[in-house]
Amino acid sequence: RPVPAASTSLGERAKRHVRHFLADFAALEREYPAGYPKMIVRGEGAYVFDADDHRLLDAGSHLGACQIGHGRREVADRIAEQVRQLEFIALDAGVSHPYVVELAERLAAIVACDDPVFSFTNSGSESNELAFKIARTYHARRGEPSRTKVISRLGSYHGSSIAASAATGVDAFKTGFGPLAPDFLHTTPPTRSPFGHREETATAELSLADLEAMIEREGPETVAAIIAEPIAIPGAVKIPHSGYFARLRKLCDAHGILLIIDEVVCGFGRTGRMFGADHFDVRGDIVTYAKGLTSGYIPMGAVAVSGRVNEVFLKTPLLHLNTYAGHPVACASALAALDIMEAENLVDHAAVMEQVLRDELNRMSQSVQRVRDISVIGLLSSVISDISDVEDPDATIRKVRKDAYDAGLLVRIARDGTNMSAHFYPALVVGQRDIEDGVRGLETALRQV
Ligand code: PLP
Repeated sequence: RPVPAASTSLGERAKRHVRHFLADFAALEREYPAGYPKMIVRGEGAYVFDADDHRLLDAGSHLGACQIGHGRREVADRIAEQVRQLEFIALDAGVSHPYVVELAERLAAIVACDDPVFSFTNSGSESNELAFKIARTYHARRGEPSRTKVISRLGSYHGSSIAASAATGVDAFKTGFGPLAPDFLHTTPPTRSPFGHREETATAELSLADLEAMIEREGPETVAAIIAEPIAIPGAVKIPHSGYFARLRKLCDAHGILLIIDEVVCGFGRTGRMFGADHFDVRGDIVTYAKGLTSGYIPMGAVAVSGRVNEVFLKTPLLHLNTYAGHPVACASALAALDIMEAENLVDHAAVMEQVLRDELNRMSQSVQRVRDISVIGLLSSVISDISDVEDPDATIRKVRKDAYDAGLLVRIARDGTNMSAHFYPALVVGQRDIEDGVRGLETALRQV
């Protein structure tokens, strides 16, 4: 591959030296010469703008992290002030800093975890990775070192590191990397993938029965934790029956197994409640966060551990180092994002916008033939289309992405077997008009197939 000259376009230079997710640039190049990647250069509210000043509703490029919208001056000012005051100090050598204390106290008042103690990380994958270490150490310190297995559900996503990939229940994300971390098992999900909907009791019952059988088969004395997203999104937005989590909680308690709730994508208002767990009135022994915690302004994740579990770490702390844990600038970013969410009542707003989004997607499904399923909760939604009869599904997906882009919409389009999923999850600051325009963009793209 020739090294591009300095005068070459940014897109060409990006292709030479930057790895982008899921981007098939060679195919894009063939189909849409010199068009990709697009350069996004600024953001404002729910929208971003490319180098040609083309305005796009950002309903996917943040992978669901952008709650408070782009370009918020309040956050920028707070971050700048924090850098001037104290840009970084590690939580080591007997020192702490007020910004991490303030953030932990603020979170303690709202999370679905009793009397929580927080660890901070830089991403959702790291948060889950740490959750697994904490769960295993908890049992070992209580005299049960054989409890090392972690059970997750098929159709889940828990991140990209070796253990988080092992916990992930979607083959495409975990094959080809050689052996992943051992002792990760998968059970039946409480929803019938790929169809979202609010599921009936029977599906949840089946899932819980399979889980119980797995625990009996493996031996409860070998199981450290069960990890579950309140609402899983691979393939489709999958909403379990309202009784599922209470039963899951009971099952964990009956067998001495810790419940890890993965709030990485559901957390911080995305689903119309502050946390996904709030829909199901369930509390986790360990709860993991990232994305919406800072709305993406600075990378940050967190792990809440209940006071009961944390007791084993009081005398001998967990030996787990992370240089940037509780980075002051990330704390400032999270505090500023939380302030905005509260002041603008964005969680309630997301709940109100749910109906607008559902109505729009339902309206769209009447006019687009291939749509098979729509699932919406808060401002998290998926549209599943049947592409079983198209000749080249990957080319079709690239075309839908491109047509959506041209129609002013960034949306996450992926392939799931013979289905194509569009995940539409805009910033929580969107109004009715933004949703209407965005869904029209999606409609235009889907109609071309
Ligand atoms: N868990 C869930 C439910 C997620 O959706 C994601 C990311 O999409 C992760 C974990 C991993 O987070 P990150 O990409 O920040 O490592």
